Amino acid sequence: MSQQSCNSCTQADCPSKDRRPGENDTQFQARQELAQRMCRIPWKIVVLSGKGGVGKSTVAANLAVSLRLAGRRVGLLDVDVHGPSIPKLLGVEGRTVGLANGAMAPVSTPDGLRVMSIGFLLPDPDDAVIWRGPMKMGVIQQFLKDVDWGDCEWLIIDSPPGTGDEPLSVSQLLPDLTGAIIVTTPQEMALADVRKSVTFCRKLDLRVLGVVENMSGFVCPHCGKITNILKQGGGERLAVDMGVPFLGRIPLDSQVAEASDAGIPFAQAHAAHPAATAFRGIVDKVIAAAGSPPAQA
Ligand code: ADP
Repeated sequence: MSQQSCNSCTQADCPSKDRRPGENDTQFQARQELAQRMCRIPWKIVVLSGKGGVGKSTVAANLAVSLRLAGRRVGLLDVDVHGPSIPKLLGVEGRTVGLANGAMAPVSTPDGLRVMSIGFLLPDPDDAVIWRGPMKMGVIQQFLKDVDWGDCEWLIIDSPPGTGDEPLSVSQLLPDLTGAIIVTTPQEMALADVRKSVTFCRKLDLRVLGVVENMSGFVCPHCGKITNILKQGGGERLAVDMGVPFLGRIPLDSQVAEASDAGIPFAQAHAAHPAATAFRGIVDKVIAAAGSPPAQA
């Protein structure tokens, strides 16, 4: 087995030093380059959901914004190759990706959140990406290897719904992922799929940082009364059942949807709103659960 240093650290047991069986020179070098770039980011979190439309991207974007507001240096990577929505959610749609230090430079929001998405690379936002698994893995590998995230401390990765190629690629390419956040809505139909997400994480030995229950209680825009259209508490019960932490619930509120449509980060623009408070509470729990940065020898 050939050994080689990627010069990132002096850790004797770094897995990127060993050539894997069957790995050719190009693959070995690409894996080392990826490890070299990614080991500079101490906390890397993937956001998953069992099904689409539960607000996963909304939650991922607002958690990244809330972390940024808490003074952290944050990158947000959208690996939803077929339906990238992060650029629109953050009002950076149509921006172009530049070059920095021989790598792709993420797009920066006015508040310094660094964002990368396939959406920035498509000539037309209505273009459909028709790719099979290996091509998706290739582009995700490029995002992790060839984007200059600078001095980011946190990388939040928004993955498409389900347990398909994208989250699998992320967990295979990043053996040192801090963990996963699973987003759900409270009704039984969505919860059944969350069980699959938890099982997926367990099979991959990926720590579940916790479950977020989104669209939990509808807030009437006229009187502020809360109606539990999709019930409430299902996400928390599921978390308890499956032995994973419950991180908090975000109300179903038309202001959240309006802000997203307008490309305004909700947690920032409506900082006093209960949904923004809920995002902050979740971020506090995630920071506490993520703990100290992994040791670098
Ligand atoms: P997913 O990534 O799970 O497919 P999105 O984040 O794209 O879901 O959200 C789907 C829709 O639901 C969007 O229109 C979004 O604005 C809306 N949405 C998400 N969360 C909330 C919420 N808490 N209250 C109101 N609307 C929401």
